[in-house]
Amino acid sequence: MGARVIIVSNRVAVPDSPRTPLAGGMAVAVKAALKNRKGMWFGWSGKVSDEPVETSQAVEVNKVTYVLIDLSKSDIQEYYNGLANSVLWPTLHYRVDLQEYSRADASGYMRVNRMFADRLGALLNEDDVVWVHDYHLMLLGRELRSRGHRNRIGFFLHTPCAPPDILQTLPQHKEILGGLTYYDLVGFQTENDRENFAHYLTTIGAAQVRGGVFEIGSRKVRLGAFPVSIESKAYMRLARNAGRSALVALVRESLGGSRLVLGVDRLDYSKGIPDRVKAFERLLENNPEWRGRVTLLQITPKSRSDVKQYGEIESEVTGLIGKVNGQFGDAAWTPIRYVNRSYSRTVLAGLYRAADVAMVTPLRDGMNLVAKEYLAAQDPEDPGVLVLSEFAGAAKELDRALIVNPHETDAVAAALKRALEMPLAERRERHAPMVAHLLENDIRKWAEDYLAALVEGAPARNLLAGIRALFGVSSDQAPFAIR
Ligand code: UDP
Repeated sequence: MGARVIIVSNRVAVPDSPRTPLAGGMAVAVKAALKNRKGMWFGWSGKVSDEPVETSQAVEVNKVTYVLIDLSKSDIQEYYNGLANSVLWPTLHYRVDLQEYSRADASGYMRVNRMFADRLGALLNEDDVVWVHDYHLMLLGRELRSRGHRNRIGFFLHTPCAPPDILQTLPQHKEILGGLTYYDLVGFQTENDRENFAHYLTTIGAAQVRGGVFEIGSRKVRLGAFPVSIESKAYMRLARNAGRSALVALVRESLGGSRLVLGVDRLDYSKGIPDRVKAFERLLENNPEWRGRVTLLQITPKSRSDVKQYGEIESEVTGLIGKVNGQFGDAAWTPIRYVNRSYSRTVLAGLYRAADVAMVTPLRDGMNLVAKEYLAAQDPEDPGVLVLSEFAGAAKELDRALIVNPHETDAVAAALKRALEMPLAERRERHAPMVAHLLENDIRKWAEDYLAALVEGAPARNLLAGIRALFGVSSDQAPFAIR
């Protein structure tokens, strides 16, 4: 039996089953990475039941087996809403002030990680390569090891990784973050994130570094940066067609000649939506000539509504937008259109293409796929302009965007004005190299680079050959360099 790739993440999105569009870069990325490949995607079904069944449900689509498990109400409360989203998410996004820790939540997190290990462990073959995704499952590697699994097991963190001083504020950080040292390879979005964790391991985790390998007792872990991406080519095609759709025509018509600025973010405090609204307000305050001539369409699906901090950001955003619309709007023009629903990939691609400017201004973001999708969706002959926060992982790659500090309202407002007024030649000159970069560095390359690095140096030589065959990588290509 050849090596399978087993992807493990909190949520599993089975193709075509829930018809609701996916909001969340992780789901989009993993789905694309497994497309047409032999493997398994293992994780939570999204169902909450009082008495979750002990057996996992499996569905097979396009050679990929989807194995789904249900969680109980207390699992969701303690593991998902609790430790993962009220403690780890804010901490990894540098928001120590928003941490809400409890021991009950921490033990729920550990319990669910153990349960994942029990259920997944029962399905593993010896030569399977396991790729665990994101902050919900930091302890899964340790739990699989303690059950005797000697497979190659890697982890990828989709969020940012804060510096050691911040990571240390996490109660039980040695146990939880230390869990990452049981993996063979831990991947991060950027070099900055990788360095923060490397620094944490050497200063707090007592790791020794030998030849780029971090040694903690008898364990060895490698760290690497692998910026996640999109299906660039397919996305460009999708947007070209979607740009001609009836819905996009309707949106354009409804704008009545007003220019379109687009924001697309889950309702999350890390996305900097209040700061963006203030910058848009500042544009209107400082530049009366733009009043009535520009509209911000802010698409913001609600997320994690059961977590307290998310209720607070919701009221803040609603209040601010109401204020701007009340102050500047008139009977014929609403400055900000605010929509709390999610759109399909196709509709979104069409809206990106129709937008003159995208504002991607998170206070902190692991990557931000919206920035990449917006660029891929543009008409290369007449592209729009990306205003991008320096604190999004994407800014490390997309350096021809208008890079801003989202905390500096005046500067963001000035960048927005510049974007709206940018001549065609400059727009094209900025857009072209960034799209070339996305074509070169797409989601497939991300998955290949990560998996090649994960199996590098594996004792069974046929493991690497197996992975290469699986991904169509020829054996003379140099394995991904890891520091
Ligand atoms: N998205 C979507 N419909 C929406 C809003 C967002 O499909 O209405 C998708 C968007 O296309 C992108 C993902 O959700 O692929 C958001 O990923 P990103 O990395 O920007 O942020 P995350 O939500 O993972 O923090």
